[in-house]
Amino acid sequence: MTLKQIGEFGFIKKVSRGCLIRPQHIIKSIGDDAAAFTTDLEEISLITTDLLVERIHFLRHAISGFELGYKSLAVNLSDIAAMGGTAREAFVSIAIPEDCALDYLDAIYDGMKDLAHRFDVNILGGDTTGSKVDLIINVAVHGTIASDEMMCRDAARPGDIIYSTGFLGDSKAGLHLILNKLPADSENLRRLIRAHLQPEPHLLEGRFLAQQPGIRAAIDTSDGLSSDLGHIIEQSGVGAILFADQIPISGELRSFCAQHKFDPVEYALSGGEDYTLICTMSPDKADAAAHNFQKCFKRPLFPMGKIREKKGLEIVYPDNSSTAIISTGWNHFKGE
Ligand SMILES: [Mg+2]
Repeated sequence: MTLKQIGEFGFIKKVSRGCLIRPQHIIKSIGDDAAAFTTDLEEISLITTDLLVERIHFLRHAISGFELGYKSLAVNLSDIAAMGGTAREAFVSIAIPEDCALDYLDAIYDGMKDLAHRFDVNILGGDTTGSKVDLIINVAVHGTIASDEMMCRDAARPGDIIYSTGFLGDSKAGLHLILNKLPADSENLRRLIRAHLQPEPHLLEGRFLAQQPGIRAAIDTSDGLSSDLGHIIEQSGVGAILFADQIPISGELRSFCAQHKFDPVEYALSGGEDYTLICTMSPDKADAAAHNFQKCFKRPLFPMGKIREKKGLEIVYPDNSSTAIISTGWNHFKGE
């Protein structure tokens, strides 16, 4: 079967199966002119949207349909996680080139539904159209959060401890393996590639952090530690110091970097798309929060630096040398 044979409406009917995961409060899902759902007025609504364009964000031959669908939704869920919210409804718009097989499209929706199931998110609609050359996917997600729990980028204060909810730099190593067509012949390397193709949105971690009494600012790591922490310090009007030996680097990234003579700290600073959460926590409540995080998730909340009054971002190495760092993360318009 091809897309031409089933047509746009046949395609929508086909992919809409299994999209309604949480029918409570949903009045209309896919099939009417607009989705309709009720929300609780005690809550703040969060909306985020991400556009994934072939050859800019992904290479169709280097990613399976399942992984592409999974990642398109994951990056949006990560933005809801960064605010501390609960993801609720998703909308998927897709521009399909003629050479895109129906099986590949089906797999995109399978990947999205797999993640949607795990995080209890409905897929409620979107738009479908043709494209001359590239496959383009836009996902928008609606989430909610209690009005006194929202985490923003502008709330860091001098003295705060800076944490990450997971390892940094793995995704960049995975991308390096994919772009250079290096064989993923060990579980270590496969894990790095998975970190790039199927990042785990830290929604539960975001909810946990939002409920900690000492929480201040938060962001997800989509562009790289230096760039994402840069947003926090810039918007909070503060500076930060990072301790190179505390930046969380996985064993997999360490051995990858040792083999290829790369610097793992540089990977963590500049590599994007890890989708961990970076947060800052008031120093008197930080230890308790980190302790509870370990208890709850069976892995550490990694402390890696401090917020300070002096502007700018500085990294200190174990030999006490230090360097000022400028954002080196991904910038679509610089053609990096
Ligand atoms: Mg973000």
